[in-house]
Amino acid sequence: MPRYDFRCRSCGATFELNRPMARANDPATCPEGHPDTVKLLSTVAVTGVGAAAPAPAGGGGGGGCCGGGCCG
Ligand SMILES: [Zn+2]
Repeated sequence: MPRYDFRCRSCGATFELNRPMARANDPATCPEGHPDTVKLLSTVAVTGVGAAAPAPAGGGGGGGCCGGGCCG
């Protein structure tokens, strides 16, 4: 059974509760009896910002071949 950490916003106390995952989001009551608690995240998701790949420079060359007399 997973353990969840909670923090009371009334008195600042932190406490742990063992409860099934199905009830992970149920409200928890502080040991002091305060109902204003928040669930702390035990695992922090790391979100990385991927660097955008540089767009390839479009090279369009080709000025035609009429400069050298190949076009008649
Ligand atoms: Zn409390």
